[in-house]
Amino acid sequence: MKEIVKQVSKDLEISSGEAELIVASLLEKPRFGIYFNNKLDMETKKILNMKLIELKNGVPIEYITKKVQFLNFLLCIYPGVFIPRLETEYFIEMIEKFTNFCPEKILEIGTGAGAICIALATIFPKAKIIATDISQNAIDCALENIERYNLTEQIHLLHCNMFEGLSGKFDMIVSNPPYIPHSRLKSLPKSVKHFEPILAINGGEGGIQFIKRLILQGKDYLNPGGQIAIEIDETEVKILQKFFETNISTPFYFKKDLFGRFRYLFIGNCKVLDSE
Ligand code: SAM
Ligand code: GLN
Repeated sequence: MKEIVKQVSKDLEISSGEAELIVASLLEKPRFGIYFNNKLDMETKKILNMKLIELKNGVPIEYITKKVQFLNFLLCIYPGVFIPRLETEYFIEMIEKFTNFCPEKILEIGTGAGAICIALATIFPKAKIIATDISQNAIDCALENIERYNLTEQIHLLHCNMFEGLSGKFDMIVSNPPYIPHSRLKSLPKSVKHFEPILAINGGEGGIQFIKRLILQGKDYLNPGGQIAIEIDETEVKILQKFFETNISTPFYFKKDLFGRFRYLFIGNCKVLDSE
């Protein structure tokens, strides 16, 4: 096993400690477990080798292990479904911090693996949630995660395009939509542009195609006193400010991420803190 760890460390140009973590994760063992009873049978060796080749070719480790940690949730994830990100974990923190009411009905547009709706279901246990996605792969993956956390009573999934087929009004509309400007897609890391679904990240010209639709259409689905919360890219703040000046009279607030970048847009009911 020592040789395998050494080889992984060399191939991926990482420390032997990191290589141990990767091998342990691929073998689904604790780190010490890779040296414990460390003779691998032929079949396991073959599978491990295939996984290591995928990793070397840039496949995200989450697609190989089929697992991703999101806050306290260990979610399943499959190729073809967007891998939940760190900034979205913080988006959840921001929603919790800036919401001063208990939403009874929540709508999530573009749920992917279901990370956002699952986290919100535990923050707002009385809320009924509808979570949508245009991708059937995403809906299948989200359903597996929702079942895993026994949330099928609380979260209802819908395979649809944006607001199509939806009726009624919601107290909160949440989305991490595709928002990468089209012109920036080719400079994304290889692991993203070659392996993650383009449909999940391509925000069109300027990156704000979906954000604009969420704002314009979303207000028709929002109860008075409700809130729309959207994850955005920091480069979109100015253009969105202009868009609000000419199109929308509802109050809006940009909030910063952990690194001081404006990454979250809140529209409507949002707690205003003295410290801001
Ligand atoms: N909410 C998940 C998260 O934060 O990890 C996934 C976010 S991913 C950036 C955007 C999601 O929007 C993808 O799952 C994609 O399939 C979905 N999507 C793209 N276009 C859509 C559309 N027109 N209607 C509904 N969902 C869409
Ligand atoms: N933050 C993601 C990335 O950089 C993009 C997410 C999105 O388009 N919503 O890959």
